[in-house]
Amino acid sequence: VTFDDLGLEPSLLSAVKDAGYTSPTPIQAAAIPEALKGRDVLGIAQTGTGKTASFVLPVIHRLSKGRARARMPRSLILAPTRELAAQVAEQFEKYGKNHKLSMALLIGGVSFADQDMKLTRGVDVLIATPGRLLDHHERGKLLLTGLEVMVVDEADRMLDMGFIPDIERIFKLTPFTRQTLFFSATMPPEIQRLTDQFLSAPALVEV
Ligand code: AMP
Repeated sequence: VTFDDLGLEPSLLSAVKDAGYTSPTPIQAAAIPEALKGRDVLGIAQTGTGKTASFVLPVIHRLSKGRARARMPRSLILAPTRELAAQVAEQFEKYGKNHKLSMALLIGGVSFADQDMKLTRGVDVLIATPGRLLDHHERGKLLLTGLEVMVVDEADRMLDMGFIPDIERIFKLTPFTRQTLFFSATMPPEIQRLTDQFLSAPALVEV
């Protein structure tokens, strides 16, 4: 399998080639075509498998048409830590360099004012840690009712950090029509329950 076989649009393929990647990793080869069909994906994969690109590429592909409205992000990527959120943002920059997508990072340690300004202008890609996202929501700065796609990355670390109630609250703020791409290295019962409740007939991708 090559990247050309996955169904990604040409501007994304050229960004992938510029990044120096020729063939997709197993999780990318399995998850990307399912995500491009619009299906929910449950990916069971460790860090180092290329799982980040397996959601970043289909999210960019999906958002390449249309534009964001004020305070209504089109996609949300939840990550357990600031560091991971920042790494995900770097990958959106790298693969999204041929697209004009607006992006905001809602993590602790960055001023609310800067983040508010971006949200007001409209954001295609919102990358956040759960607590900070809910802070903005409670302050009335953000609506999740326009979400087209939501990603949960490293769900098992979220469980370890006590974020499962936050993740449930966030899911309940989003529309049923959203696509969900959900990644975890392991599937403990609490994560299984969460995916049973919030994913819709997901493609199971295990590597
Ligand atoms: P991740 O599992 O997403 O943290 O990615 C692990 C590493 O693999 C990162 O440094 C990526 O840049 C790299 N990577 C992602 N996709 C590919 C690919 N198709 N070929 C080679 N390296 C890749």
